[in-house]
Amino acid sequence: PEAAQLVASRILDVPDFPKPGVLFKDLMPLFADGVAFREVIDGIIAFHGPESFDVVAGIEARGFVLAAAVAYATGVGVVPVRKAGKLPRATHSASYALEYGEATLEVHQDAFTAGHRVLVLDDVLATGGTAEATLDLVERAGGTVSGFTVLLELGFLKGRERLAPRPVHALLTV
Ligand code: IMP
Repeated sequence: PEAAQLVASRILDVPDFPKPGVLFKDLMPLFADGVAFREVIDGIIAFHGPESFDVVAGIEARGFVLAAAVAYATGVGVVPVRKAGKLPRATHSASYALEYGEATLEVHQDAFTAGHRVLVLDDVLATGGTAEATLDLVERAGGTVSGFTVLLELGFLKGRERLAPRPVHALLTV
């Protein structure tokens, strides 16, 4: 499909970032291209349907950019899911294992109106740890996850299997 080609043609592979042996997929060229960015945002909205969610949640930090654009285009609000220690009021937090160590994400306890349908967005799905923690946080904060979309899924890392049976929508899977 068109969106997949758009994404594919605007990713830069960065070897050994953030550490030796990792091939980092840099999506900044896609974000920086106004035509491609709009196409991708419109594609996300069209896939889910603009009536299928009441609020959009973005995962720090590139998810914020996507979430804000989708929220603005559909006239709903945007909620940040942040790294530990950034949110000023009472939070729910979820920790997950990284290859070395641990990461923690947080969301404000009052971030969602009970029962509101939440569309969750991020740029890349890798192992799925980030997404799993986020979907858990959204539900603990009273939201109902209506969808989860990423621009790029790294299929070999099996994030989709980790999140099953929750559906994952990826514009491009490599
Ligand atoms: P996971 O928790 O292993 O699925 O990693 C996903 C999170 O790490 C997302 O928030 C991504 O933004 C980030 N991430 C992991 N790998 C990449 C990459 O190759 N490019 C850009 N972001 C990545």
